[in-house]
Amino acid sequence: MEWTRRALLASGSSHLFGRAKPKIRGCILWPVRATSRTVWLVVQLHTDSGISGLGEASDAFGFASTSAAQAREMEQALAAFANLVKGRSPLEIAAYREAAAPLARAGGLLAATAYSAIEQALWDLAGQTLGVPTHSLFGGAIRQRIPLYANINRATTDRSPAGFAASARQAVAEGYKALKAAPWDGYLRISASQGIDCTRAIREAVGPAIDVMVDAHSNFTVAESVRVARELEPARLRWYEEPVAPTRVAETVEIARQIRQPLAGGEFLFGVSGFLPLCQEKAVAIIMPDVKHCGGLLEMTHIAAMAGAHGVSVAPHNPSGPVATTASLHAIAGLGNCEILELQWGEVAWRGELLGPPERVTAGQMEIPQRPGFGISWNEKLASRYRL
Ligand SMILES: [Mg+2]
Repeated sequence: MEWTRRALLASGSSHLFGRAKPKIRGCILWPVRATSRTVWLVVQLHTDSGISGLGEASDAFGFASTSAAQAREMEQALAAFANLVKGRSPLEIAAYREAAAPLARAGGLLAATAYSAIEQALWDLAGQTLGVPTHSLFGGAIRQRIPLYANINRATTDRSPAGFAASARQAVAEGYKALKAAPWDGYLRISASQGIDCTRAIREAVGPAIDVMVDAHSNFTVAESVRVARELEPARLRWYEEPVAPTRVAETVEIARQIRQPLAGGEFLFGVSGFLPLCQEKAVAIIMPDVKHCGGLLEMTHIAAMAGAHGVSVAPHNPSGPVATTASLHAIAGLGNCEILELQWGEVAWRGELLGPPERVTAGQMEIPQRPGFGISWNEKLASRYRL
């Protein structure tokens, strides 16, 4: 009865709409070794009612790989943030943000990533607690599925033009309509022209109908950035990512003025304030918040709203494992200025099976999950087999 429900809510009862309201007990970290280049750090936030929420904290050390010592460091950072929600309801996300965001902002990438992982897990729990998919809590979805771009970089072990072309052809054969590579990785050993040759080879391999993007991983000076961009004009890039670090806003503006390709960037930035200069100065056409580092799902929606006000679009950075990919799907389900999500392509065959139901890509797209919370369970047995 309505009066009973109101009375229960008003009295701060442990029941919510007739459901038991869970309280958070603590978290555990699952470090999963995918390849020699990639470790996925998955966080499980446990409650006293038996349900648990998932978040992902990979790439917190500037690289996709993580050592056992770094995983322990992450465990400690996560424990500090989890302590702030211990004994609390997963519906108190605003309170968590208020208390924890200043610590995340002050603590660098490791703290920002730990903070964001706990935020993700809280949204998963909140959706499960209320019996709705997490994206419903942000206003619902405006699309049933989202196009992905295949990041072919890590799976391409043959770093020659032929190697990149082969990966690109394979991704397109699987149904992807967009792909990205970072052909200047290890720039000290690789010349600008080698990366240009690889990009041209990708374009030649896939033809004109596929979107091709390149990530320069902040390897260049302003002059090099401009020279490479001009040489790449015939490759018709959808975007040119981070030729210099996204914190170098003035330099990025200088590059933008001199080239024709749209610039993209911002993968390690935190919060609305972190992305504001790039948007205000029109330094980039596309910002790339990462749900693992930017402050989590709610912050991503705020960042997207701010970007929208500046005419900037959003393509979330997500060279991540399957949990961050699911969190990203929920965060962007209702964002009008987000058209595409990154997917790390071709790493290991068992990736999809880490989740139940298994992660699935169909014709280069992923469905927005409709089950309560994130709508996924964690395959502990498989994760144990590949534990770091
Ligand atoms: Mg990047």
